[in-house]
Amino acid sequence: MENKLEIGDVIIMKKPHACGETRWIITRLGVDLKLKCLGCSHEIMMDRLEVYKKMKKKEAKKDEEDKK
Ligand SMILES: [Zn+2]
Repeated sequence: MENKLEIGDVIIMKKPHACGETRWIITRLGVDLKLKCLGCSHEIMMDRLEVYKKMKKKEAKKDEEDKK
């Protein structure tokens, strides 16, 4: 599986957020990524390597599935 992340991608973290949600959406890319919790809309900045370390997987996008 490729690990390329794009804005709008939903990633699933290994550990849940304080609100219990494990899914975050990427809202900004750069050296640090900006992630928004899908449960409580809390936003955080996280180092790219840390994101890769903490994420369990990327949630498949519907349009990508349709292309196959
Ligand atoms: Zn949350």
